[in-house]
Amino acid sequence: MIIIMKPGAARENVQAVVKYIEENGLKTHLSEGTTTTIIGVVGDKTRLTECGINSLKDVDRIVPVTESYKLVNRKFHPDATTVKVGNTEIGPHTLTVIAGPCAVENEEMLVNIARHVKACGATMLRGGAYKPRTSPYSFQGLEEEGLKYMQAAGKETGLATVSEVVDLASLEAAVKYVDMLQIGARNMQNFCLLKEVGRVKTPVLLKRGLSATIDEWLNAAEYIISEGNPNVVLCERGIRTYETATRNTLDISAVPVLKEKTHLPIIVDPSHSTGHYKYVTPVSKAAVACGCDGLEIEVHHDPARAMSDGPQSLTFEKFDELCRSLRPLADLENKKF
Ligand code: PEP
Ligand code: MN
Repeated sequence: MIIIMKPGAARENVQAVVKYIEENGLKTHLSEGTTTTIIGVVGDKTRLTECGINSLKDVDRIVPVTESYKLVNRKFHPDATTVKVGNTEIGPHTLTVIAGPCAVENEEMLVNIARHVKACGATMLRGGAYKPRTSPYSFQGLEEEGLKYMQAAGKETGLATVSEVVDLASLEAAVKYVDMLQIGARNMQNFCLLKEVGRVKTPVLLKRGLSATIDEWLNAAEYIISEGNPNVVLCERGIRTYETATRNTLDISAVPVLKEKTHLPIIVDPSHSTGHYKYVTPVSKAAVACGCDGLEIEVHHDPARAMSDGPQSLTFEKFDELCRSLRPLADLENKKF
């Protein structure tokens, strides 16, 4: 449930409500807007009585929250959240472009790609060091060495960095080298891993599971935040459908649905959703027009020789063209790019 305080409620009266709830063994989550304060309540509500709360000063009304996710729920937190990542941010005021290779292959290629994507307007560098591949015979990533190259490329260019973690060992390594942790589609419901990334402070990019509903995805985000890490960003990367013309099917309507259900920022990945470079530009434009807070795009200096996901990777030239075409759309959405 949420408790909505009267506009301009006195601070001591808000504190009295918080105290009453916590004395009953429940947790509170405070959201202070310009005029109205909302108190979110998490825990066993059978211990509270409505008339008990209603008798407290400055309480306006009680609204039940029927969804199982609470902390990520827009009802708990009406204002959109901005997540700071390194020296950049992901949130309602910016279009954050995250670009880079699918996999880190060596330091030289990574720094080269980082320089190019930065010159085009990207503020974040992506690069996988631990690669959960469909086939066990495919390139599995450079692991910790790859993370060191991510750190070096980030330092060299000033780009914030994001890289995927797949287990506790990769998580312990990644927090030393990168600014943001990615949870891949295949691990979206790895609840042990979600709890572990919830226990660190590093921001998390949580990709949607291959066949996950929006509610399952939001519950996965709730796992992370309920452990103490509020810095979660969602990434729509396509879902599995009967269609085979594209690698996955981008659920574009997930963007406005999420904007309604949650206060967390939303990124769209046009590369994994389409699986083909020539669809990346039109899909990116649609995502920006639809109100996403950023894009995660695979870029490679030589896609034909990429060790992973070459067919969906943009060349430098194509990425440059894409970024140019996004600028007027970002302006229309009132987002800095
Ligand atoms: C990736 O971003 O490198 C990746 C593997 O994506 P996903 O988990 O969405 O398949
Ligand atoms: Mn990839």
